[in-house]
Amino acid sequence: MKERECIFCKIAAGEIPSATLHEDDEFRVILDLGPASKGHALILPKEHFRNLYDIDGETAARAMKLAKKMITKMTDVLGCDGYNIVQNNETCAGQTVFHFHIHLIPRYEGDQVGLGWQSGELTEEVKNEILKKMK
Ligand code: AMP
Ligand code: ZN
Repeated sequence: MKERECIFCKIAAGEIPSATLHEDDEFRVILDLGPASKGHALILPKEHFRNLYDIDGETAARAMKLAKKMITKMTDVLGCDGYNIVQNNETCAGQTVFHFHIHLIPRYEGDQVGLGWQSGELTEEVKNEILKKMK
């Protein structure tokens, strides 16, 4: 299914030009227009899914398989030192484009890319509450 007004549907379909690093029947991998670091790329399925809640498990698994293939090649090409794989779901988590995508963010020793968080504390109360609810 394709959402008529979705920009990533149009990019994935090739209707809007993009800097494409890889394309197959199911996915297009493009350079992000607002990169966190040199080589920041996005994996886009050609089919429209809002995010990880919406995508089927098999497609999600193939997307992650492609992420592994892409970062292996791109580490060579870019000469980066590591990678962050980021995937945002819903506004509170930083999602701004509501078409499932995986960020591939190359990391370079000493870069200033900020993806961190402040570590809190796992209290007994919270731990027990969650473990109980998960049963
Ligand atoms: P997110 O915040 O996880 O939804 O990520 C959306 C990403 O898409 C951001 O990193 C944007 O820089 C990127 N982006 C938005 N529009 C375009 C576009 N037309 N081409 C390439 N990247 C885009
Ligand atoms: Zn879409």
